[in-house]
Amino acid sequence: MKDVFFIERDPYAPIRHCYAVSKVLYESKSQYQEILVLESPEFGKLLVLDGVVQLDEKYEFMYHEFLAHVPMHAHPEPKDVLIIGGGDGGTLREVLKHESVRRAVLVDIDKEVIEVSKKFFPTLSCSFDDPRAIVVNEDGYKYVQDYEGEFDVIIVDSTDPVGFAHVLTTEEFFKFVFRALKDDGIFCAQTESIHYHLDMVVKIQNNLRRVFPLVDLYTSVVPIYAGYWWTYSIASKKHPVREPSREVKVKTKIYSEDMHRHAFLPKSFYERIMNRSFSF
Ligand code: SAM
Repeated sequence: MKDVFFIERDPYAPIRHCYAVSKVLYESKSQYQEILVLESPEFGKLLVLDGVVQLDEKYEFMYHEFLAHVPMHAHPEPKDVLIIGGGDGGTLREVLKHESVRRAVLVDIDKEVIEVSKKFFPTLSCSFDDPRAIVVNEDGYKYVQDYEGEFDVIIVDSTDPVGFAHVLTTEEFFKFVFRALKDDGIFCAQTESIHYHLDMVVKIQNNLRRVFPLVDLYTSVVPIYAGYWWTYSIASKKHPVREPSREVKVKTKIYSEDMHRHAFLPKSFYERIMNRSFSF
């Protein structure tokens, strides 16, 4: 294949990225979604679900390190961690870098995403065999309802909030999450683009604010996501989140103590977003 381009079929963003690709490595339809693996000369392999690029090998760390290490370092000693979604394994890999972790449960509704990742994305799926990892194939919305005071950190690494991922942004879900967390637990989720999905970002933040005493928003640049400037919503029962609570000892490419602090929007700007006195 020469000069062949794949155009994303993203129903959720008003922009579609177009990738030069050299090969289609895998194509199937699971019980839940269309799965495609492409080879790209610039980005390495790409994982595409329902026409939307989820990750690329070149820049995935810029997403997974921020999603995992901000909540993990805000917590002084995370032992029991729940990841909802994240079937590619990237968030699990980052979570298990923390020596304090004794159990990381990954709940992805779609078993096939995990199998495809094990086959095509070994640098992401490298932690599935870690003895501390437990994999469950179930809807995260249902799974979390069975637990009370069980987890130190819960991370949602889901697809866009449409279809079966939509429930993971609701106030009802956040109430279950709150109950499943220990008394000093921390929750974090990827919450889409600050430009293109600001209404959704504010809605999710407000849903979290109705449940948690401390809610905040941080961002990172993710070169393959629509708008590049990506948001993460974080909520805490007790611990402050804007500073790491301990020294950063894990090996990362971009996350550091300084990056943790700088990821958070200045409070005045965050409040302008939340009271809607700022919009793009
Ligand atoms: N980093 C990616 C992004 O933001 O585009 C997310 C990648 S990860 C592959 C997303 C995973 O979330 C998918 O494998 C999908 O099956 C899973 N997922 C979506 N909704 C879910 C739900 N309700 N319960 C469990 N897993 C879910």
